[in-house]
Amino acid sequence: MKVPLINLQAQYVSLRDELRPVIDQVFDSQQFVLGSYVRSLETALADYSQTTHAIGCASGSDALLLALMALDLQPGDEVITTPFTFFATGSAIARLGAKPVFADIDPATYNIDSKQIPALISSRTKAIIPVHIYGQCADMDSLLAISQKPGIPIIEDAAQAIGAEDRGRRAGSMGLMGTLSFYPTKNLGGAGDGGMVTTSDEACATRVRRLRSHGGATEYAHEEVGVNSRLDELQAAILYVKFAHLDRWSNLRAEKAALYSTLLRDADLKLEVMPPFVRNDGRHIFHQYVIRVPQHRDRLALYLKERGIGTKVYYPIPLHQQVCFEYLGYKNGSYPQAEKAANETLALPMFPELTTEQQEYVVGSIQSFDC
Ligand SMILES: *Cc1c(COP(=O)(O)O)cnc(C)c1O
Repeated sequence: MKVPLINLQAQYVSLRDELRPVIDQVFDSQQFVLGSYVRSLETALADYSQTTHAIGCASGSDALLLALMALDLQPGDEVITTPFTFFATGSAIARLGAKPVFADIDPATYNIDSKQIPALISSRTKAIIPVHIYGQCADMDSLLAISQKPGIPIIEDAAQAIGAEDRGRRAGSMGLMGTLSFYPTKNLGGAGDGGMVTTSDEACATRVRRLRSHGGATEYAHEEVGVNSRLDELQAAILYVKFAHLDRWSNLRAEKAALYSTLLRDADLKLEVMPPFVRNDGRHIFHQYVIRVPQHRDRLALYLKERGIGTKVYYPIPLHQQVCFEYLGYKNGSYPQAEKAANETLALPMFPELTTEQQEYVVGSIQSFDC
């Protein structure tokens, strides 16, 4: 049996007949940039994210960049974030000449540990970026409480968490702004790159809209220097079709996750495997299903590979240990929980079309692994 980490082919096969006509429609219209599908998708996703605005852009990475530009981030400013995330969270800060200031993670959820933050806040702190890692929201109540008094805005990196909830509130609606990614492997993935900024703040929405189109309110009148970062009409059309299936897919992921955890709990394992911790006051959309394997993680991954099972480490090198961030002066050991997570976590196959037989095979294989 083969169990890939993710199977986009299966999704495409089921959507082929729905996707082809809208692709033709975009070609017939010859409107490839900021057309009616972009507007429809923006409206639908603002509503879905419980915000009044959603602004499409070229990628999730650019969404972070645009959100920070909308805050007037300047060289020398500081932004507090997690070191245990995809590179783009840190690079958006660095690209604007600002300094990423990392806070270690909560070992249970892998999300930023809000208790670490107060000591890191300085007069230069311009934003806090929690990342809703793997599809589960960071503890937004404590983050909002910490940021409120000094008045520091929060940008939620919701690239992995579209539709996730924290105490009934949707990812991307709790901070001043939120950012989404439509990278093909995300829960709502396009046929290429795409991203979005969500916000209920009028000024931020206007600013991001302007910044994504060269900083102009109208075509050739530029109020500031922006970038060219728009969501393609073709991507928007494809995403609009896929959006109708998003909740069903995310619910299927959650069902598969629950089955994995039950199977793992009942299995007679020869090594310690901890299933993901799921908060009981939220909605986890399981972008990834990540186990913790304190010992022999890499050997287990190799063994599973030999048995036709795809796994991956998200993420093997925390941001503070990246070569490009050496200048920040962090050391090995600076963030022990992030480093431990990088050494111990392993993502198992997760996609809506995963079958029970495949899941049983994955857990059976973990059980037969004799370290
Ligand atoms: C995917 C991702 C991004 C970047 O999104 P792209 O669309 O690939 O640029 C940013 N942050 C996190 C946490 C992500 O998972």
